[in-house]
Amino acid sequence: LTNDQLDKWDRENFFHPSTHLAQHARGESPNRIVTGGSGVYIEDRDGNRLLDAFAGLYCVNVGYGRTEIADAIAAQAKELAYYHAYVGHGTEASITLARMIVERAPKNMSKVYFGLGGSDANETNIKLVWYYNNILGRADKKKIISRWRGYHGSGLMTGSLTGLELFHKKFDLPLSQVIHTEAPYYYRRPDMAMSEAQFSAHCAAELEALIEREGADTIAAFIGEPVLGTGGIVPPPAGYWEAIQKVLRKHDILLIADEVVTAFGRLGSMFGSNHYGLEADIITIAKGLTSAYAPLSGSIVSDKVWKVLEKGTDENGPIGHGWTYSAHPICAAAGVANLELIDKLDLVTNAGKVGAYFRKAMAEAVGSHAHVGEVRGEGMLCAIEFVEERDNRRFFEPSKKIGPQVAAALLKQGVIGRAMPQGDILGFAPPLCLSEKEADSIVAATVKAVSAVLG
Ligand code: PLP
Repeated sequence: LTNDQLDKWDRENFFHPSTHLAQHARGESPNRIVTGGSGVYIEDRDGNRLLDAFAGLYCVNVGYGRTEIADAIAAQAKELAYYHAYVGHGTEASITLARMIVERAPKNMSKVYFGLGGSDANETNIKLVWYYNNILGRADKKKIISRWRGYHGSGLMTGSLTGLELFHKKFDLPLSQVIHTEAPYYYRRPDMAMSEAQFSAHCAAELEALIEREGADTIAAFIGEPVLGTGGIVPPPAGYWEAIQKVLRKHDILLIADEVVTAFGRLGSMFGSNHYGLEADIITIAKGLTSAYAPLSGSIVSDKVWKVLEKGTDENGPIGHGWTYSAHPICAAAGVANLELIDKLDLVTNAGKVGAYFRKAMAEAVGSHAHVGEVRGEGMLCAIEFVEERDNRRFFEPSKKIGPQVAAALLKQGVIGRAMPQGDILGFAPPLCLSEKEADSIVAATVKAVSAVLG
């Protein structure tokens, strides 16, 4: 098929996620047909080789073209492509993977429920939390607190949890059981005089005030990403998680750590929960679990939650929650090979080491630009926030689309970054195998892109 033919069929038949539908149909947005990849690079049908500094959608953690994972997928497909995982059934791959996940997870975690993507795993989590409270005889303890700018998926519940306007608009969301609290976004703190510690205390006080307004006996869980991802790549201010967890414990509210982006090394620790001292009751995993070589997610459940769920099924019979493709053998085989590769290549250490090098180099290169408000990140996550005026933190008019313009200029330099959906923020989340030399290439391309758009 020619590129023109593919382009035509694409516009006629392919309903893409997150699409400006009319523009795409009219051919106003370009198509890239991706054909291959190796390490941190992808290739397209037009012969471009691009450095993917966002690892797909922060998911191709081990990098492209890993034959170890491809071979594991092929071997599993030949041996047994599918059998369901309803109780009493498993495969060597799915059982091994559950074991490997729990071995790597924080100590209080004990079981994994498998799904396919981050959104369905978070849907599972909310059902588990509701089931948990039902068993404990407190069915009215149902509301879920999420943060503005949090991203937890785009289903009806998970889109509600997501604290970005785009995901609510025109869908009558958020659902009534979901309430939002302040984002731990230090750069956008309400009072510039606040220290990080003061801002953390302020976020915890806001959370507590919300809980008291709503009534602790109506609130089941708090969900948060260790580092806000899609909401702007925002690491928490010092002391944030400590202060938040104190409030949650006091009011007997469960903590769901959404580690879809952060689990399996992205922050330079195996889990973000280890990195920030989170003692979660449930942890969501997806993306880095298979490095996106196959779709797979999981809800890791703590001992505390498991014991209650177990009791419930004793009293009420089986839990009414299941997916056809839960623990799909091919995806599980990809997961096993992926986690083995992360260990073998010591990618968690590399993410911490090269990530720090990358962020420092980026800050040195663009941090003092008149329109760069902040360069921030953690591990192999980095963001540049652009502002009209640095001194009084005046943001650009959204209609100027500065973030997307810089991302487009970066692409012209052969590097893929991501214009984050809210604010003028250029995000980076390269594969964890990034080298210092490749980090230098991203920085050099970014310098050119920033000066092309902002002088
Ligand atoms: N949770 C977080 C933190 C995410 O970043 C994402 C996706 O980016 C999701 C959940 C949803 O995952 P999926 O797109 O696989 O449904």
